[in-house]
Amino acid sequence: MGKSEEGSGKEGMEELGGKVPMIEECGFRKEEMELLSTLKPSIKAGEEAGLHQLRTVLDTKTSFDHYNDQKDELQQKKAGPASLTQWVVNGCLSVRRVYEEVGRLESKQAEEIEQFRSDLLLRDFLYFRALKYQSKYFNAEYGIYDRSNDKWETDPIIIEKIKGAKSGMPMIDALVRCLKTTGYISLRGRMIFAHYFSQDLKQDWRIGAKFFQKYQLDFEPCSIYGEWHASAGIGPGKIYKFHVLNQGQAFDPDGSFIKSYLPELEKVPIEFIHDPYRMPKELQQKCGVIIGETYPRCIECERYTQKDRRYPTERTLESQKKIFEKVIKPGYFVKTTQQTSRRVKLPKID
Ligand SMILES: Cc1cc2nc3c(=O)[nH]c(=O)nc-3n(C[C@H](O)[C@H](O)[C@H](O)COP(=O)(O)OP(=O)(O)OC[C@H]3O[C@@H](n4cnc5c(N)ncnc54)[C@H](O)[C@@H]3O)c2cc1C
Repeated sequence: MGKSEEGSGKEGMEELGGKVPMIEECGFRKEEMELLSTLKPSIKAGEEAGLHQLRTVLDTKTSFDHYNDQKDELQQKKAGPASLTQWVVNGCLSVRRVYEEVGRLESKQAEEIEQFRSDLLLRDFLYFRALKYQSKYFNAEYGIYDRSNDKWETDPIIIEKIKGAKSGMPMIDALVRCLKTTGYISLRGRMIFAHYFSQDLKQDWRIGAKFFQKYQLDFEPCSIYGEWHASAGIGPGKIYKFHVLNQGQAFDPDGSFIKSYLPELEKVPIEFIHDPYRMPKELQQKCGVIIGETYPRCIECERYTQKDRRYPTERTLESQKKIFEKVIKPGYFVKTTQQTSRRVKLPKID
């Protein structure tokens, strides 16, 4: 990539007169420089920063108030226990220390604290599972249980579109930009992306896992591969199927997450923010988003490109709304209008 990678480091340093080069001198391409300038580093590295973060978590009374619900937030946690994950997985914070110190907290949120501690145990469980199954855990096409329910495909065009945030599915494109610019996606976002990639588009889950691996600041091999097994439907137990549009409606109903990473969709009306490819031509002109020109056409996938849009059931939306109301935007869902006896219409904006 950079000039400095060609030849030995010594030669490179001599060429630069023994000085540490500026980033512009490292031979990055124009697009790479542009990407670098948009990076929003979300954390400080190192043990000192990790300990500071842990102290903040321990000293903040409300740290664990919404721990379970915050897993569903798409933006990186802002309140409560701002994420510890990057320090934990990079060895800057001892897991035992986090486990013990959090366990000593006296809080009304005992259940949430136990959930956090059991998530730390889940990480170790995945370690042991990887130890047991060795290379099969990381490489087997159908996972450690040989669950060949889906036949994987490897379509380079589809894969490139997704990696380049050009799937035409705003939620997926926003998640990819979020990952590339911050090095982090929330648990909910990781699940939405991994389901779409493997179960909807049937692309080989291992390619998706490697893509995450390249950008995640909290990349941890046993967790990432174990979690991809589950999302791709080749893990233990029940196979869960996510619907990207319904997930988007539930966890980003006003499209604020999408718009924060896809400013080109700023003027798309809320009714179409998750599926702008359904906008009538006149509306596309009106909001300046021309599908196939200024925003990509959606990758063909029957679930999302079928003629009639399926809305989430009232029950699903109700339970997801509770989380949204409680944590993300209190008062957002003042009223919902029923479209049919079981389907719910999106809240309207002017
Ligand atoms: C497709 C996919 C890929 C994932 N890849 C990784 C990965 O590379 N590294 C990683 O640590 N986690 C991974 N996870 C698990 C989970 O998403 C993250 O651990 C979690 O989002 C960390 O963010 P947080 O802000 O909630 O961290 P915190 O709440 O601060 O959690 C701290 C630690 O708890 C552990 N933890 C929490 N939830 C989980 C979980 N569901 N599974 C395993 N460990 C957990 C992790 O060690 C994490 O570092 C992945 C999940 C999915 C669905």
